[in-house]
Amino acid sequence: PRTGLAAELRGLEGAQYGRYKSLTGRWELPGGLVLELVRGQSDPYAPPARVAVHVPGGQAGLPAELWATPTRRRALASYLARGAARAVRGEKALRVDAGGQEVLERSSCTVSGDDGSVVLRLGVALPGHGRRIDGREAERLLCQVLPRAAERTLVYAALDAGQVRRFVETVEDSVALRDALAGRGLVGFVADGAVLPRRSGVDDRPAAGGGVVPFAAPEELRVTVELPHAGAVTGMGVPEGVNLVVGGGFHGKSTLLRALETGIWDHVPGDGRELVVSRNETVKLRAEDGRRVERVDVHAFVDHLPDGSDTSDFSTENASGSTSQAASLCEAVEAGARVLLIDEDTAATNLMIRDARMQALVAKDREPLTPLVDTIRSLHRDHGVSTVLVMGGSGDYLEVADRVVMMDAYRPSDVTERARQIAAVPTGRHAEAEAFPGVVARVPDPASLDAEVRGRSRIRARGEDVLSFGDHEVDLRAVEQLADPRQVTGVGLALELMVRRSMLDGRRTLSEALDLLEEMLADGPTWPLLTVRDEDFAVPRRFETAAALNRIRGLRMLR
Ligand code: ADP
Ligand code: MG
Repeated sequence: PRTGLAAELRGLEGAQYGRYKSLTGRWELPGGLVLELVRGQSDPYAPPARVAVHVPGGQAGLPAELWATPTRRRALASYLARGAARAVRGEKALRVDAGGQEVLERSSCTVSGDDGSVVLRLGVALPGHGRRIDGREAERLLCQVLPRAAERTLVYAALDAGQVRRFVETVEDSVALRDALAGRGLVGFVADGAVLPRRSGVDDRPAAGGGVVPFAAPEELRVTVELPHAGAVTGMGVPEGVNLVVGGGFHGKSTLLRALETGIWDHVPGDGRELVVSRNETVKLRAEDGRRVERVDVHAFVDHLPDGSDTSDFSTENASGSTSQAASLCEAVEAGARVLLIDEDTAATNLMIRDARMQALVAKDREPLTPLVDTIRSLHRDHGVSTVLVMGGSGDYLEVADRVVMMDAYRPSDVTERARQIAAVPTGRHAEAEAFPGVVARVPDPASLDAEVRGRSRIRARGEDVLSFGDHEVDLRAVEQLADPRQVTGVGLALELMVRRSMLDGRRTLSEALDLLEEMLADGPTWPLLTVRDEDFAVPRRFETAAALNRIRGLRMLR
């Protein structure tokens, strides 16, 4: 690294703004930190410059056990990023992306598994007087504010050791709990005492106050899991199979499902959902009318359309609520989902149910839709795909559910036995399908993706839930398990990586390409994505990446 950054910046006072670019590269600062200008800023209105602060392992002094495993490194880095973000909060020009309630792998901070060194990456709006360099202010930001913040928040001696440890252990317990699910035949776990409701629809912190009812598992579903740090924890185990959540409106059904939905991610201490987990292969589904569908076999749910189209190879630019949900279900299973979550609030009613009276009135050959109630058992029995369904409005699922949990004033009880008795009385409804036939593996056509990437990348996150991919805007609002707006950037980078590294080669199925992506991201998922572009991003799962790909309007599939 070069030295003398402060003098250099003072020397640039009043120079053309573009001269900032001459500073690109690594600079050693007096304290021993290395400041790297990764990407300059061409003018005062351009996106901020990218700066990395490198803290050598010896200087960070982080005890090796805090960064001994990928999980601990992710947790530790998340903790450090949060501290750094707080330390520079008063400085508008500096922005550290620390994230919210979830502890995600993100680019803003990484800890090396080799030597415990730390890298903090942030955006810096380089200061100017109009189009001239403000060298003094740049010196203050880069040579004083930033190094001081780093020394106060990235160096172990300056940290609250107990708090760091608790953060890391909390995340490690969540991961251990999630990893324990499959071996016990569970798809999810909600700990006794967990706080599920959030402050508001736009504030993901835990609800506070006297009205909050902490979770308490029903006796029949209570299980105990031994965790490395918390010891024995009890809670509700959600078994594999078909699970139904019933109960009156406003009694907490959707809140429970949403907790399971985000149980694929780990949460910060104090969140209330630290010990609410679900299997990694859990996918939330919903209706999404208007979405595009490209060559999905949806005939298990949709057949004999009035226009005669072949629904075993179904495409549309404008799906209905029911066909969109059918397609999303098949796509999720194609991508490897093992658990599906569906809430009546956001599901297409006509894909969920068709009761005896409607069967009597509308003959099957006039109704293209086969409701999920008729294939949901086969999904589990024949394909190993479990479901958790919130359904307070129809009793037809009582017949097919393995478990029925009733929410009553936010308290769950196991009403499976009672539900069986009720379901034993025939309604006159008859099944409309014998089995779920499985999904057809599709092969993405790289030509339909490549053209839009060649030369300069045209993949960018727009706002919180739109990804622009070439000429297309991919609407990700219905991909509800994206927990963080920066994951949209992560999805874009993952897709770009898949294209650039020819994982989508016109022969591999989508699922095989996702396997390759996962393999590449297996140890240190931020690094391969950083080679695409140095930006603030958080790492998504294969399912969110697949969901985005499936929604690109230019995408073509080979089959
Ligand atoms: P449902 O889906 O059964 O209609 P919701 O899950 O939407 O009900 O919950 C209704 C309201 O109750 C929401 O405002 C939610 O935040 C609140 N709520 C949910 N669970 C709890 C709880 N355990 N304690 C206090 N309030 C809760
Ligand atoms: Mg609801």
